Amino acid sequence: MSACKHEDSEERVWLPSRNHLIRLHPHCKHCGIVRNSSADIGKEIGYFANSLSRLREFLNRRGFKVSRVQIRMVILEFEKRGLADKYSVPFSVQRREFARIVRKYFNIPEETVMGFI
Ligand SMILES: [Zn+2]
Repeated sequence: MSACKHEDSEERVWLPSRNHLIRLHPHCKHCGIVRNSSADIGKEIGYFANSLSRLREFLNRRGFKVSRVQIRMVILEFEKRGLADKYSVPFSVQRREFARIVRKYFNIPEETVMGFI
């Protein structure tokens, strides 16, 4: 996980935005990562950890055991890939990638995961 406490730079960089127009984007003056300036704002890791707890309860009630290790692997991979960085990652991307990671470690369909995020 990035330890950087992102702060906007004075100057902006020209980059394609989500609607394919070239726009000026703020970026972090310390690490250089580009800020997500869309309305699709990312969430903190706690949000996804809560989703995971609710999903785990749901699966437990249906007789599927989810171990602490599986939970930990999901959170670790999410953080390691920089997805917990809400400064730069939009929620739609976090949600999609989170569902993929959970599928990988829990072996359940992404749609099931999506219902909990
Ligand atoms: Zn930074």
